[in-house]
Amino acid sequence: MERRRFLLTLAAGLVGAAVGRGTTGLVDTAAAAGPAPASRAEPVATVLGEVPPAPPTGVVDRLPGEGDGLALTIDDGTDPEVVAAFCTFAADTGVRLTFFPNGRYRSWLDNGELLQPLVDSGQVAMGNHTWSHPDLTTLPDDAVAEEIGRNRDFLAEAFGAGRTPFFRPPFGARDERTDALAAAAGHPTVVLWNGTLEDNRLLTPGQLMTAARRWFTAQAIVVGHANQRTVTGLYDELVALIAERGLRTVTLADAWPSGLARVVPVVVRGAVG
Ligand SMILES: [Zn+2]
Repeated sequence: MERRRFLLTLAAGLVGAAVGRGTTGLVDTAAAAGPAPASRAEPVATVLGEVPPAPPTGVVDRLPGEGDGLALTIDDGTDPEVVAAFCTFAADTGVRLTFFPNGRYRSWLDNGELLQPLVDSGQVAMGNHTWSHPDLTTLPDDAVAEEIGRNRDFLAEAFGAGRTPFFRPPFGARDERTDALAAAAGHPTVVLWNGTLEDNRLLTPGQLMTAARRWFTAQAIVVGHANQRTVTGLYDELVALIAERGLRTVTLADAWPSGLARVVPVVVRGAVG
């Protein structure tokens, strides 16, 4: 994406998310961004509200703080039709998702036309899940770096999403060494989960909804997969469950905006006046 459009997109997403959430915060950030006309300093502080935390260095398995957030995170992508169905689900319902693609699967490029607008608007965030889904703890350093770097470059070239802070090790298999290699590749935040659709195997619709009812809770990070088609027949039921529980879907980037996203709104407001 062209850079200015990218910045404006980020700004629109953050302002939209923060409206109505309070009137504190961001004064320091506005000051740090450099001098601005006095008449603009107050509106910036008032509109943007509280600033979410930056992506942490280390392992996370739930959303930060208290709230009604639910992060649905969808991994792998072995089946193009399931990837397509998740994209259509998001576009139709406004549900916010985070994808952790493996670039080796064609499903991501094959669904580029559906995915790119969702990525551009911030409704879909992306994280790195390695190129070919190995157990990283069994590989030497150079192979780990290659798996992560190749997929980061794929996300960058295919979707302009390579600069994500988020990394999810395949199978959740990690140690301090793999965490450090992910951080060195640009992904300091290792994202595990505290809920699951249990769909790493083929489920019946009833089994999948039982898992959703068990694990869809406030501030959960729920892992699912774009691999098996069971979920594609259950989107209405999943949306109903989310609504019934008063939950609000968020991307990982909503919960932990990057440094760029946290500063850019101030810059953009000055630029567009
Ligand atoms: Zn996976």
